[in-house]
Amino acid sequence: MTAYDIIKKKRDGGVLSREELEFIIDGYIKGSIPDYQVSALLMAIYFQGANEEEIFTLTDIMLRSGKTLDLSFIDGIRIDKHSTGGVGDKVSIILAPLLSSAGIIVPMISGRGLGHTGGTADKLEAIPGFRVELSLSEIPEIIEKHGLVMATQSPEIAPADRLLYSLRDVTATVDSIPLIASSIMSKKLAEDLQGLVLDVKIGSGAFMKDIKKARELAELMVKIGNRYGVKTVAVITDMSEPLGRTVGNSLEIKESILALRGKWPEDLKEVTLNLGAWALWLRDVISGNTTQDIKDYVKILEGLIDDGSAFSKFVEMLEAQGGNPEIAFRPGLLPVARFTEHVMSPEEGYISGLNAELVGLASLHLGAGRKKKGDPIDYSAGIVLNKKTGDYVKKGEPLAIFHFNKEEAFEEAKALFLKALSFSQAEPEKGNKIIEVIK
Ligand code: URA
Repeated sequence: MTAYDIIKKKRDGGVLSREELEFIIDGYIKGSIPDYQVSALLMAIYFQGANEEEIFTLTDIMLRSGKTLDLSFIDGIRIDKHSTGGVGDKVSIILAPLLSSAGIIVPMISGRGLGHTGGTADKLEAIPGFRVELSLSEIPEIIEKHGLVMATQSPEIAPADRLLYSLRDVTATVDSIPLIASSIMSKKLAEDLQGLVLDVKIGSGAFMKDIKKARELAELMVKIGNRYGVKTVAVITDMSEPLGRTVGNSLEIKESILALRGKWPEDLKEVTLNLGAWALWLRDVISGNTTQDIKDYVKILEGLIDDGSAFSKFVEMLEAQGGNPEIAFRPGLLPVARFTEHVMSPEEGYISGLNAELVGLASLHLGAGRKKKGDPIDYSAGIVLNKKTGDYVKKGEPLAIFHFNKEEAFEEAKALFLKALSFSQAEPEKGNKIIEVIK
């Protein structure tokens, strides 16, 4: 068997066996197969796709390339939520403490920013002292004591995915359904979960731009989860404009704190509570209880926000992971940028679109994300949106406030942001953020 033959087989539309996939992945981890051959195979998969069996096998190989958590000694139902990636997506930061306050055990392992999308792990690191790089032995200890943890993928978890993921990021092979499904699920299956809620984003700010592809990805991940005995629900949600009012690490933490205090924009509330409601539904299915209507679960979660339980859990989590708990009461202690600048509307009319990818890129340009692997992040940089789709705006009225430290970045970021906007004279229809549920 040679890497050359395997690449050629996939290039020509063949189906790869477990042995062949293992040969490549094991060889890549050990260093006997170089980047350029693995890149070629990734590109062949990008164009030729992979059948379900190949995707299951790829997930399994990546999962088994590392260690897995054993949380079976902890009482309670273990459920996580994971998003395929978006702009302004701070749902996990609100949802982990919220679900924990509902009694669910939440072992949440999140990613870092990728391309124009932000990453929960980066956002959490905007909190002074907060540690997301936890060892495989620390994670169960924190969960046992506090009922939740928010960590990032350690080198021990699915190391094959870590390697492939970095390679995909620089070889334009991220937005491939087989590669995304196996990448996400190999990490989630290492968490020893009983239930999983997937937020499959669709629209300009998502890797999946249309409903057909989003549905295909969602169905595939649900099948993979269920095959491993992890009861999985996928909710397809709209990512055609940024979620909530902020984009950028520190700004998103501030918005999350406000949300945990019950002050949140409608779109963020709708998506967070809906995903959370499906986690409660899963808890009842897994524990054999009668399930309730999703709207009733939403009410339960609203109650936990209103009575301060979710906020208290958030403070507890900050303390447990070395973060400064004071930031929950005084968000001004989070990193603050030296400069703020308003961006004014060039037109009068209704905002009919706010392309999330371009807003994400504008924020990245201000310093909130990485242009290449290993770049440092400016936690204070980002964008506060004064206006979103459906809002009426006068010419010269502020559309957004940019936060930044690199003065030279402002003009280009502003140009990207203005390109993201479209206007109409008629009031646009507001669509639902929840598009479809697959279980
Ligand atoms: N998130 C992941 O973990 N993997 C992908 O491939 C895309 C988003």
